[in-house]
Amino acid sequence: MNDVVAALANAIGAQYVIDDPAAMAPYLTDWRGRYTGRAIAVVRPGSTQETADIVRICASANVPMVPQGGNTGLCGGATPLPDGGSVLVSMARMHRIRTVDAANNALVAEAGCTLAAVQQAAEGGDRLFPLSLASEGSCLVGGNISTNAGGVQVLRYGNMRDLVLGVEVVLPDGRVWNGLRSLRKDNTGYDLKQLFIGAEGTLGIVTAAALKLFPRPRARATAWVAVPDPRAAVDLLSLLRDRCGERATAFELVGRSALDLVLQHIPAMRAPLAGVHDWHVLVELADALDGEALDDMLERTIAAAIDSGLAVDAAVASSIAQAHALWALRENISEAQKIEGISIKHDISVPVSAIPDFLLQAQQALAAIWPDVRIVTFGHLGDGNLHYNLSKPGAVDNAEFVARTRDVNRIVHDLVGALNGSISAEHGIGQLKREENARYKSEVELDLMRAVKRALDPHGLMNPGKVI
Ligand code: FAD
Repeated sequence: MNDVVAALANAIGAQYVIDDPAAMAPYLTDWRGRYTGRAIAVVRPGSTQETADIVRICASANVPMVPQGGNTGLCGGATPLPDGGSVLVSMARMHRIRTVDAANNALVAEAGCTLAAVQQAAEGGDRLFPLSLASEGSCLVGGNISTNAGGVQVLRYGNMRDLVLGVEVVLPDGRVWNGLRSLRKDNTGYDLKQLFIGAEGTLGIVTAAALKLFPRPRARATAWVAVPDPRAAVDLLSLLRDRCGERATAFELVGRSALDLVLQHIPAMRAPLAGVHDWHVLVELADALDGEALDDMLERTIAAAIDSGLAVDAAVASSIAQAHALWALRENISEAQKIEGISIKHDISVPVSAIPDFLLQAQQALAAIWPDVRIVTFGHLGDGNLHYNLSKPGAVDNAEFVARTRDVNRIVHDLVGALNGSISAEHGIGQLKREENARYKSEVELDLMRAVKRALDPHGLMNPGKVI
């Protein structure tokens, strides 16, 4: 056992320090199976103090650290580099909900709480914590903060950055910053918590957070709507917002190939409509109104959309079970794609109104270099965010497919750049998009990012090889 591992075992207990290669393996490969790293050890702190002790021991030995939450990230951010020189810090044991404060609409959760546990704790206090992702049973709050997660309710409630009131962080030198304030107003200087949100573990380890709660909606109305094309989907979003205002909580685009993958690979999934359509949106309204009034509002909006040619068919859920079945079609797309095999993924955003142009131009440019290209499109159209993925055509082998990534990225990301968009809307940069990010950000912006990194982590010990 090396000196660092011995010191870590002494600090937090040998049973929480794993250095056996087989026991470490599940922590060292990412969810997509795209990256596998190596580590000196995996450590599992049970408290903020233990996390600080770990960081102090690693910092004094000049050993880099890789924070990990639920390991559901899609950019290799939580996977150590193959050099094997770092310690992986898994936050999963810190899973206490410290407080639920309904009067102040705030909750304090430790970094290792699953997102689903936070949602349930809020519900227990008759409140809503609105962040919602398909991975919510496995991803952890610290990971959600560190990736500034988005998901399916950003349209109404914003992404994680909008939902965090305060954070507690262990800094790269082992000091603890307790910024767990749950104030709505606090203009006492730089808003430091923002630095750690979306930092992907490169500036410190988040150990707890104060999160914003909302009144719990009493009713939801859900519909699966077939639209003639993406332009109609964008116009339907406007119509929905004009008629239903803030009640529109989700507006998800699902292309035909994405739906087909779910129907093909996920058991018990049923096509929601009788006909076959190229484009669909999954729409949800939520409100304190009673259920019938909300259903009526959604049905009348869809009828108006069909009358004006913005929609061609729709299924409105008439029970909670039906609503869940519609959501399952959307939420299983990533899983179905994983089962289908290797894919080249993009997580882009452009202004909502530019989405139809993006889809048309990207499809034309990709088809020109790759006539049998299989494009799988889905995502949070209401936020201008699409998951624009390429599945491997059957005839091509994996190595040849991966070799095309650079050419494909150039087409997709150059177009995103031309439309004033982002090459990573919600998944982050990690290892996967580090070079791409450097290509598309201005030198000034990269300089500012490097200056922040140097100021907080001068020895580069926090999650090296990620983001910048
Ligand atoms: P991890 O994967 O463990 O880590 C992610 C990054 O955060 C890494 O860089 C890691 O070092 C860092 N990190 C983790 N914990 C801490 C901590 N406590 N302190 C400092 N740094 C830390 N994402 C979305 O935004 N929207 C979606 O709709 C969405 N859908 C998904 C669906 C599926 C099926 C899957 C598998 C993933 C999806 N994701 C989505 C991606 C992923 O779930 C999110 O990025 C999530 O926020 C990651 O949380 P995690 O706990 O798994 O973090």
